[in-house]
Amino acid sequence: MNFCVKCGEECEESIDGLCISCWLDGRRLVDLPHHVDLHVCANCGEYDFGGRWVRRDPMVAIQDAAADAVMIVKGADVTSISTSVEEQDPRTFVVTVHAGCDVMGYPADGEASTIVRVKNTVCRRCSRQLGSYYEAILQIRSASGKLEDAMREEALAMTENSVARQAATNRQLFITKMELVPGGVDVYLSSISLGKAITKELGDAFCAETKESPKLVGQTTDGQDMYRLTYLVRLPDFKVGDVVTFQGGYYLLSRLNGTGGKIVNLADFRERSVRRSDMTSVKLYERSEDLREATVVSTSGSEIQVLDPSNYSTVDLRVPEGVEIGDSVRVVSIDDVLYMVP
Ligand SMILES: [Zn+2]
Ligand SMILES: [Zn+2]
Repeated sequence: MNFCVKCGEECEESIDGLCISCWLDGRRLVDLPHHVDLHVCANCGEYDFGGRWVRRDPMVAIQDAAADAVMIVKGADVTSISTSVEEQDPRTFVVTVHAGCDVMGYPADGEASTIVRVKNTVCRRCSRQLGSYYEAILQIRSASGKLEDAMREEALAMTENSVARQAATNRQLFITKMELVPGGVDVYLSSISLGKAITKELGDAFCAETKESPKLVGQTTDGQDMYRLTYLVRLPDFKVGDVVTFQGGYYLLSRLNGTGGKIVNLADFRERSVRRSDMTSVKLYERSEDLREATVVSTSGSEIQVLDPSNYSTVDLRVPEGVEIGDSVRVVSIDDVLYMVP
C-alpha cells in the first residue's frame, strides 16, 4: 500500500508518488501542435501522409492529419479517438481531437485542438507525368509492316489494363503518352520494369517477336549511367480464328500462348502444336472476319453438301467427326477448292 505524497490518501496504484486523481489533476493528457500542414496534390487530389500519397475524402483527410499529430502524455494509453472539424476558410480548419485514455487501468479523457492548413503541392508521380517523364518506349508494330486498327486497339487495351493493374500497388507506374507513328504506335512508360512486363505480356498473348535495346541518355548526379529502354513488339499478322499456312499446309489457328500455338489442319481436322520459335513460319492466309458462310444443303456422314457462295454450285465438304452441323458453315477457298473451317 502506498500513500500519495500530495493528498496523503492511501492508494493501490501510484505514479511519481501520486495517486491517480492527483496525478491527473490539471495534467494535459493530449496535446497537439499549434498547426498541422496537410499537403494535397493539386493534380491528382491525393493527400500526403508521411510520404505516402493516398486518396481520401477531404474532411476525413483533414481530421486524420490532426489525429496523426496527437501527442499523448507518458503514462497514458489511447483507447479511443474521435475528432470534430470546423471550417474557418476553404484552406483552414480547426480540428478538435478527443481521446479516451487509460491511466494504469483508470479511464480518463483528454482533448486538444489544432489548425489544419491544407497546402497545394504536386506529388512526385504527377510532377513526372506532367513533365513527360519516361524511362521506356514500347513500340507496337506488325510483322507485315502495317498494323491493323483492331490489332492495335487490342494491344493497347491490354497495355492499359496491365498498367492499371500494376499502378494499383505502385503509383509511380503510368503511361506518359501514346503516339501513333507510321506502322504502329509508341507507348511511353514511366518505368523500365513496366516496359519489360508489358512486353512479356504482349509477346506471350500474341506470340509476338520482342526485342529490347538500351540507349544511354546521360548520367545521374552521382555518376551512374542512365538508360532508356526501347521495347519492340512485332505482332504477327494473324490472330486466333484466322486461317494460316504452315509448312505447305492450311490450318485454322486455334490457340496462341507464351509457348507457341495450336493449329487445326483443314484437310483432316487434326490439331497440332507449333513451337514459338517456329511461329515466324506461320503466315496469314485469310482473316476470320473475311471467311464466308456457305448454306448447308444436305449432310451425309463425314461429308456435307453446301452451296459455294461464289457461284452457288453444290459442292461436297469434309467435316470433322461428331460436329453438329447447322444451317451454314464457315468456308475458305484454297486453290479453287472449298474447305470447311471448324
Ligand atoms: Zn493524491
Ligand atoms: Zn498527384
